Amino acid sequence: MMSYLGIKLIPNERNFILNKQQKISIFLFAGLTSFIVMSFSVNLPENMKVDLRHIIIIFLVHYFGPAFSIPITIFVSILRLYWGVNQASVLSATAYILIGIVLPILYNYLPTFINKYITLLLFNTIFVITSGFNAYYLTGNILFSLNTFFLLWLVSTIVIVLEKLFVDDMIRSRQMYLSEKEYAKRDYLTGLLNMREFNKQWQLIQKNKNYYNTAFLMLDIDHFKLINDTYGHPNGNLVLQQLAMILRINAPDTEQIYRIGGEEFCLIITNYTVSELNNLAEKIRSDVALKPFKLEEDNSVDVTVSIGLASTGNKDLKKLYRLADRCLYQAKDQGRNKVVATST
Ligand code: GH3
Ligand code: MG
Ligand code: MG
Repeated sequence: MMSYLGIKLIPNERNFILNKQQKISIFLFAGLTSFIVMSFSVNLPENMKVDLRHIIIIFLVHYFGPAFSIPITIFVSILRLYWGVNQASVLSATAYILIGIVLPILYNYLPTFINKYITLLLFNTIFVITSGFNAYYLTGNILFSLNTFFLLWLVSTIVIVLEKLFVDDMIRSRQMYLSEKEYAKRDYLTGLLNMREFNKQWQLIQKNKNYYNTAFLMLDIDHFKLINDTYGHPNGNLVLQQLAMILRINAPDTEQIYRIGGEEFCLIITNYTVSELNNLAEKIRSDVALKPFKLEEDNSVDVTVSIGLASTGNKDLKKLYRLADRCLYQAKDQGRNKVVATST
């Protein structure tokens, strides 16, 4: 259950890059988990306690590296003294600190052909053997030490194998879910963001007070139906992809370009002056008009676009959308390959 909660603390991105809060949460979480595990420790003679907290350290080394595991090992080892300062606890704390520092460093130097499972189990064995030696040192009873720590080794080995299977499975499902979520935002053909993301984004911008000016640059390919009819649908798709590339090159923010219809695109541009916006729209229009679009079998076609540009200092983005659409319509009406702009 603690692993399940732990995985929930892991970042939302596809790769595991942790920010400061996540690092602190994982640190606190590992500390708390160790404390809980220690509370279930088994009391042995000579004030000795046996528990499974070394498993937490092993998993921290495995998933997060020494930067995480070493401070937590020190914290967890010192925590052991909370149950009483005596020979057994001091010995155990010292041993934990030593192995907890040495193992993660060794981990980096282990050859890559050694299986991760074997490494985990090897670490476990080293922890258990060290505890076994401690027990022998304190009790002088070899049979007792062997029996107890063989049992500990067996239990911890089973826990580690199951835990690794469980955690890896959860991480895989989570990564799959996150990449599916990312795919769902995008249009398959051009890789640009889709209409749903567009609707989400302008509503976010509407709420954000840092934007003093917002513009919608709406673009529609001229006579695209003719291109499709003349050269075929697959060639039409090539045109759409190359147009997306021109937009990416020119847009101030590539994550603000949306394919909002079959051959209609919209850029959301924030905090640009009216003249910067006009220059941008004009640059896109002329780049498209000047570029020969490559088609299959070494053919090419000239393409033009009409652009409607509307900007506003107020936050009525629904109205802005209507204005940009109207400008686009006027650009078409005035002969296409044109930019029509307005600002409110
Ligand atoms: P206008 O200059 O007035 O915009 O004329 P148009 O021909 O571009 O406009 P219209 O809306 O009549 O045609 C749009 C065409 O875009 C029709 C549709 O088949 C085509 N289309 C929509 N989505 C795709 C797509 O993903 N791939 C291809 N190849 N064509 C598409
Ligand atoms: Mg259209
Ligand atoms: Mg069109």
